[in-house]
Amino acid sequence: MIVLKFGGTSVADAEAIRRTAGIVASRQDRSPIVFVSALAGTTNALIGLAEQASRGQLIGALRAVENSRDRHMEQAESLLGADCDEVCEEMSAMFDELAALAEALSVLGDLTPRSLDTISAFGEQLSSLLCVAAFKAHGLPVEHVDARQVMITDATYGLAEPDPDAIAEAGHRLLLPHVREGRIPVLGGFIGSAKGSGITTTLGRGGSDYSASLVGAALQAESIEIWTDVDGMLTADPRVVKQARLIDVVGFEEAAELAAFGAKVLHPMTIAPAVRKGIPVYVLNSRRPEGTGTLITFDPPRRKVTALAGKGDVTLVKVRNPRMLLTEGFMLTLFQAFARHHTSVDVVATSEISVSVTVDETTHLEALVTDLRALGDVSIDRNRGVVSIVGAALADGGSTMARALDALGDIRLHMVSLSATGINLTVVVDAEHVQPAMQRLHDAFFPGEAAP
Ligand code: ADP
Ligand code: ASP
Ligand code: MG
Repeated sequence: MIVLKFGGTSVADAEAIRRTAGIVASRQDRSPIVFVSALAGTTNALIGLAEQASRGQLIGALRAVENSRDRHMEQAESLLGADCDEVCEEMSAMFDELAALAEALSVLGDLTPRSLDTISAFGEQLSSLLCVAAFKAHGLPVEHVDARQVMITDATYGLAEPDPDAIAEAGHRLLLPHVREGRIPVLGGFIGSAKGSGITTTLGRGGSDYSASLVGAALQAESIEIWTDVDGMLTADPRVVKQARLIDVVGFEEAAELAAFGAKVLHPMTIAPAVRKGIPVYVLNSRRPEGTGTLITFDPPRRKVTALAGKGDVTLVKVRNPRMLLTEGFMLTLFQAFARHHTSVDVVATSEISVSVTVDETTHLEALVTDLRALGDVSIDRNRGVVSIVGAALADGGSTMARALDALGDIRLHMVSLSATGINLTVVVDAEHVQPAMQRLHDAFFPGEAAP
């Protein structure tokens, strides 16, 4: 059994869904279970309309519902022609429900994480219905399974924690019987439901990869295939560095670091459940299914530099206290403050008298800073970015750091951090320098043109 996951661009419109059906058909003899994301852009549109409605802008929110309805109906008609009535009716009923929810939000004037999950989960519910109908028309023996019955989580809306035992139990009960009888279960990624209450939850943005990996791990799949719109994992985000090239094999740890530092091609947490079970994960291009993609494995070649990742929109928090830093328990108290304010820390660097950390999430920053002031002078630099160089053998020999700093040239560095495991060298730069920094590093570590 294998698990296939198709991202938003792989189901963006009728043409993409047809290609995806072809890929599923080509894997039919390997007993696939299929996860699909929402049609590209849908989750953003849903979140946008929920926010609009709760601000009282009901007309705009309802217009967004109708735009999304039109888009889904058009694709269904293009895929199924006169046979689209059944799925169009089902989808239409869902859009009616969505409009009613928008109205309710506009009355309440308040958007809780729980209602936001209910709304953002519509994208995958719709796309899975549409894909099932399209795959059937393609002659595939598919079976729609409501992901919420399988993907059991806790009640942390917006970033729900999956319950692997409950998922394994549900997977054995609701998915494997279909697989054994030659049918192909199709589910929406990203969505789940809270254990006990059954209320809809989501796994966090980009979470469809996570759904695939959780079920793959729970049911001990032979492999997991993440189908997207690029040839695999590349040496950098191709939108940032156009010479980026395909990496054939990447280590699990390398991929996790790259994902966490901005290589959006994979959800950072995707790797974990599959790693634990030793299941190979492939990243493949649904526009070019004949490609070989990237294999993510335990046992990659030990390269000094495998790839670069980067992200803007990072905030640097510096705490300076000449007296306290060396005192026992200072770091503990400091990081407890971050934990208390639900702010996770990315990169850390310390000197004798100061600690600098980067954070992505600034929702609780004000309250956090108030607590940190008890520990020393606090300064906040917004508009920073990070660039990471990742390679399993990064620290071997010591020359990579020198080459990287040389390549970065006059770009101002606010912080440099080399992880103790030696797999990630991260620099903090001004947000506007992320792109040029990545380009310079790429030119230095991957000279020459991209493969055609
Ligand atoms: P999907 O909708 O299939 O989940 P995503 O948009 O989440 O696709 O991820 C694919 C995108 O990730 C690519 O289009 C690419 O721009 C971006 N990306 C960022 N870093 C990398 C990288 N190192 N390798 C490949 N793609 C990357
Ligand atoms: N549709 C969700 C999102 O846009 C999940 C995913 O695509 O993986 O975040
Ligand atoms: Mg994704």
